[in-house]
Amino acid sequence: MIIPKADRLSEEQVREVTSIVEEFGCRVQTIVGTHRSVYAILGDERSELLISRIEGLPYIDRVDTIQSPHKLMDVRSDLSSHRIRIGGVTLGEELLVIAGQCTIDPKEPNLFYETAHAVKEAGAHVLRGGVWKPRTTPHSFQGDIHSLDILLEASSRTGLPVNTEVMEEVHVRAVLEAEVAMLQIGTRNALNYSLLRKVGELSGPKERLILLKRGRHMAPPDEFIAAAEYLAAAGNPNVVLCPRGTMPEMEGFRSHPDESITQLLKEKTWAPVVVDPSHSVGKSIYVPACALAAIVYGADGLCIEAHVDPLRGIGDDPKQAVTPETLKKIIEDARRLWSIRERYERAPEATARESA
Ligand code: PEP
Ligand code: MN
Repeated sequence: MIIPKADRLSEEQVREVTSIVEEFGCRVQTIVGTHRSVYAILGDERSELLISRIEGLPYIDRVDTIQSPHKLMDVRSDLSSHRIRIGGVTLGEELLVIAGQCTIDPKEPNLFYETAHAVKEAGAHVLRGGVWKPRTTPHSFQGDIHSLDILLEASSRTGLPVNTEVMEEVHVRAVLEAEVAMLQIGTRNALNYSLLRKVGELSGPKERLILLKRGRHMAPPDEFIAAAEYLAAAGNPNVVLCPRGTMPEMEGFRSHPDESITQLLKEKTWAPVVVDPSHSVGKSIYVPACALAAIVYGADGLCIEAHVDPLRGIGDDPKQAVTPETLKKIIEDARRLWSIRERYERAPEATARESA
């Protein structure tokens, strides 16, 4: 990764750097941060000659090389000082809550507006609502483009930024055209590398956030982080990792709850982790405990399905959406656990591990 002396390189400097890098069969990807940009070398950047030619340029501070399969998202990467903000929250500094319906029912826009106001009142910072839905059977409701207008209207009525899932390029273009602050990549597409590349490439310049769900069959943490790496390498490092349960399910739950993976992710990557307990356990009565456990394991936030009247909902809402009252309690208790957790983050063992 190329670190310039100034906050950004000029176009002419980018051209000069690019031509050197290309001589070595690599390419440069600009990663635009809020305060400054860094320039990733994609390909094998280990050639000493390549490094010294770049470091010899008067406007370059240094070239960082770390040997990691996910060198941009790695905790040792220069991007680790990058902070992601949404809904007035800087991730990592205080709890982030994303909440709202699984699915927006285009026939019931008022229910969604009521849910939007209620989750805001309960303390959520970002409103979620499914416009297009990945359904297990083609005969189920697949979503409706009109729901995007409902989502945007709810955003303007409440002032909350919004999150929705995209599954193909037309969705990506539609939400980038509209003011959708956070694009969700669902569990079924978590390893769809061409979609990941496309989302990274199109959303990066617009500085939108991406909520990347963990793949249902995704085993090791490295594979999850590598999926985030695709987004960053294509131009958008504003990735939030979202464990949401894996397969095979634990009997009684919808998935195999995986909130404890948060600890492992935190050791390897700087990316914030926002856990989705709703799809993990799949039943509203189990959601509070899973959500609170996620906070204990170190999550930076929660993504929770909530509905003013779950039984009138569609998609997952009747079975797994919590009411706004429950959401409010979860948020209050999550904040309490957050401060308890901080006592352990400052414990001697944690300090020793950090400096090891
Ligand atoms: C959802 O958020 O409603 C959803 C379909 O999520 P997942 O991809 O985790 O199943
Ligand atoms: Mn859902």
